[in-house]
Amino acid sequence: MQGFDEVKGQLLTEGGPVSGQVINIIAPQQADDFSRYNGLAAEHGWCPVNTQTLESLLVPDVHVIGDAAYAEKLPKSAFAATCQARVCALAIHSQMHGLAVLKPEYMNVCYSLCGDNYGISVLLHYRHDAASNVIEIETLRVTPLDADDEDYRREALSAYSMFDSLVKEAFG
Ligand SMILES: Cc1cc2nc3c(=O)[nH]c(=O)nc-3n(C[C@H](O)[C@H](O)[C@H](O)COP(=O)(O)OP(=O)(O)OC[C@H]3O[C@@H](n4cnc5c(N)ncnc54)[C@H](O)[C@@H]3O)c2cc1C
Repeated sequence: MQGFDEVKGQLLTEGGPVSGQVINIIAPQQADDFSRYNGLAAEHGWCPVNTQTLESLLVPDVHVIGDAAYAEKLPKSAFAATCQARVCALAIHSQMHGLAVLKPEYMNVCYSLCGDNYGISVLLHYRHDAASNVIEIETLRVTPLDADDEDYRREALSAYSMFDSLVKEAFG
């Protein structure tokens, strides 16, 4: 972004002016201060990791999970973070006991509750590619546009159920 024309309600960008009735400006995102001040973050602001173990590529024996981790192409989501936590815990266990590190499995689900008993979701499964260190999208499923009321109700129930189980797994 190069600037903002308040009178015209336009963002001035390299690609030309962009108009909008409501414009939400999101500041550049980056990993937390702790990661950046301790050498875990690269120039782009995020912490590069070995996507099989979540071990930092910059500081040996330190593992980074969650939003701070640069683990392409996993999204920055709570669900992805909990997947990373499991992969990371298992990898540390394997490393400590001299076992082979397993091929990781990643998935992500994001639910949006649009109303009472009305939910939609996006579900992705990923394939880990050790050679490129990239976690590639393998399958993508979104709530179909022609879903019926029962589908939306089930999506909403699944959202609550996922939230409860994530909280329980994290905090007991
Ligand atoms: C509006 C919004 C909607 C979202 N919706 C979804 C969704 O529907 N589904 C989904 O899966 N994800 C969703 N996300 C993303 C999800 O919230 C994040 O991906 C997730 O919280 C990342 O977890 P984290 O533990 O990596 O980081 P955080 O949740 O940010 O936790 C990091 C914690 O570390 C603390 N901290 C930082 N520095 C220090 C320090 N030096 N000492 C001690 N503590 C420190 C911070 O205060 C913070 O509590 C959403 C995010 C936003 C903003």
